Amino acid sequence: RAKAQGRNRLSVFDPGLESAILAQASLLQDLRQALPRRELVLHAQPIVDETGAVRSQEILLRWAHPTRGLVSPGEFIALAEQHGLILDIGNWVLRRTCAWLAACGRDPARSAWTAAINVSVRQLRDPGFVDAVLRALAETGAPAHRLRLELTESMLLTEVDETIAKMSRLREAGVRFALDDFGTGYSSLSYLRRLPLDELKIDRSFIADVAGEGNDGVIARTIISLANSLGLSAVAEGVETAEQFEALKALGCHAFQGYHFGRPLPLADL
Ligand code: C2E
Ligand code: MG
Ligand code: MG
Ligand code: MG
Repeated sequence: RAKAQGRNRLSVFDPGLESAILAQASLLQDLRQALPRRELVLHAQPIVDETGAVRSQEILLRWAHPTRGLVSPGEFIALAEQHGLILDIGNWVLRRTCAWLAACGRDPARSAWTAAINVSVRQLRDPGFVDAVLRALAETGAPAHRLRLELTESMLLTEVDETIAKMSRLREAGVRFALDDFGTGYSSLSYLRRLPLDELKIDRSFIADVAGEGNDGVIARTIISLANSLGLSAVAEGVETAEQFEALKALGCHAFQGYHFGRPLPLADL
């Protein structure tokens, strides 16, 4: 038995591991049906300016599973990426978001809002990515300058020239780009300068103690001034308290997102 072979030995007969594998397999089987069964839903979380006015919404995917309830993206995006489902799912997120943006344009209270979606590395690497985005914009009538695509640092470390070429084509059409969770990956300053970005999103791990005595305030300040000197705007993620909001404003940040301003809500309820 696995146990007799020692504590650190991993065996395929480990009953805990076996049940974890079975659970993943059943989740995957359900995930393959999620799109055709219309179980995917979009939530939106506001991004506000210094006055607290809503400027933008980040679109966040959820899976309304028939028995597990609302499943968060942390539990199924990686699975979708590993099993080739993310292109269809990502395309659905893109098209739904563009359709919603086009509808916002007909509402004077929302016509200046932008929407940000999270793009998976598999989508970005797909040869049809640029055309898929341009087609979604054209077919829904959403203005390109109101769509922002969020990428992460790890996606930008390889195939740099191809990535810059794709980003540049979309940017010429008006689409904007944000670097998500900034500060948690491996950014080199030289490639940050080369990438056609518009925005740095400061990871929420640096925001948690931004009003405290520690180093987080220094790191947030450094990211904000780095963004400013590169001509990018800085967005603080995970702002949960009025103290954090005040501290970030004092550091020169102009855009904010977090539970203090609003939790993600179903797009349909906005
Ligand atoms: P992210 O893009 O960094 O999104 C921000 C996450 O922080 C969201 O988690 C949001 O609910 C959470 N959050 C917002 N404000 C606060 C706050 O004040 N405090 C705390 N503790 N958390 C806050 P969520 O919705 O679970 O999404 C997790 C990640 O899943 C996202 O991180 C993004 O990387 C990914 N994701 C979400 N939707 C999509 C999608 O449509 N496609 C892809 N490829 N990835 C997605
Ligand atoms: Mg994001
Ligand atoms: Mg983030
Ligand atoms: Mg994140």
